[in-house]
Amino acid sequence: MAEVDVTVIGAGVVGLAVAARLAEGRDLVLVERRERHGQETSSRNSEVVHAGMYYPTGSLKAVLCVAGNRRFYEYAEARRVPFSRCGKLIVAIEEDELPALHALHQRGLDNGVPLHLISGADARAMEPEVPAIAAIWSPTTGVMSAHGLMDALREDAFRSGTIERLRANVTGLAREADGWRVTLQTPAGAESFTSARVVNCAGLEADTVAALAGVDVDAAGYRQHWCKGSYFAVAPRHAGLLRHLVYPLPGHVSLGTHAVIGLDGRLRFGPDAQYLPQRVPDYDVPESRRAEFAHASRRLLPVLEEADFSPDLAGLRPKLQGPGEAFRDFVIAEESARGLPGLVNLLGIDSPGLTASLAIAREVEGLVNA
Ligand SMILES: Cc1cc2nc3c(=O)[nH]c(=O)nc-3n(C[C@H](O)[C@H](O)[C@H](O)COP(=O)(O)OP(=O)(O)OC[C@H]3O[C@@H](n4cnc5c(N)ncnc54)[C@H](O)[C@@H]3O)c2cc1C
Repeated sequence: MAEVDVTVIGAGVVGLAVAARLAEGRDLVLVERRERHGQETSSRNSEVVHAGMYYPTGSLKAVLCVAGNRRFYEYAEARRVPFSRCGKLIVAIEEDELPALHALHQRGLDNGVPLHLISGADARAMEPEVPAIAAIWSPTTGVMSAHGLMDALREDAFRSGTIERLRANVTGLAREADGWRVTLQTPAGAESFTSARVVNCAGLEADTVAALAGVDVDAAGYRQHWCKGSYFAVAPRHAGLLRHLVYPLPGHVSLGTHAVIGLDGRLRFGPDAQYLPQRVPDYDVPESRRAEFAHASRRLLPVLEEADFSPDLAGLRPKLQGPGEAFRDFVIAEESARGLPGLVNLLGIDSPGLTASLAIAREVEGLVNA
């Protein structure tokens, strides 16, 4: 008999949601290499509750975003996670953007997202400073406290008996007769235990963890690229300038530098998308990029001046598609077919992973129970 039923690797929002979902009635260990939960991508993002219009119809990103959006609002209301259902405008500024706006509207409807195509005059009535000639209005987009969500999920997981191991880096995963031998490196040294099942929610390192378990990550298409997204903050005197999130039409790699309103009313612009040539964590946002950010942001909000922008945070997306490559979906896979029963790998959990986290956890539960 294995010592525990389930080991969840990674205490970001996805690992926490999975632990909260699976812990009831099981011995579950949540392993995190940092000193606290939620110190990586889950706390370095736009904190937007996405509606689900961007992703190919039927993809996991589309389905789990739409389901995750609904579940998030229900959960947040029940558990008092701070959020604002402020809604979002995706705007066309030039005539030649209209076909793409219409195509995005149609895709959103196909994905089951409540959306409205509105005129420039209606968009400007909602946001007088944004020079929109037409827009998509998304009433179910919002913003949340990612830490609020993670804290609530962690509480739920603890209530069901989850054991949390912090400052514990998973360095080995070996298949044994009755499950997995999990090796941890901790400040006190190395230790190991057996677990019937392992759920890999290691975010940026999910491919490294899959490789530890014996997956050939290149052959499986699991190699992750790190794609940095930086933000610039707008001077506090402009807080309140926008009442809704305002996005341009999306680019190929990211949703485009957009206006994010924090729950505190603070305005930020970002994130851009820069693939890192090497997988070395780089969260630096240099002052030297101010003009570039101001240029992209002033397209949406011309009243701002370059001096209004100052460097803010950056986050790293674990992307399965490399630079210039086609769309890749989330991977959520039980690995029996590779001869690795009991292992569930989650890879490429970039945006909308925060929004989708509760729906992802449900998907994982289905695989664990199968
Ligand atoms: C710039 C940016 C903007 C984004 N904006 C949004 C948004 O507005 N809305 C949205 O829905 N999504 C957004 N996302 C995506 C969202 O942030 C992620 O999908 C989500 O946070 C992923 O959570 P996670 O738990 O998978 O990963 P993480 O938060 O990275 O958690 C993984 C955890 O695993 C731990 N770990 C790794 N290796 C090991 C190991 N060997 N042993 C033990 N622990 C390990 C790490 O320390 C980490 O804590 C954005 C992402 C970025 C980068």
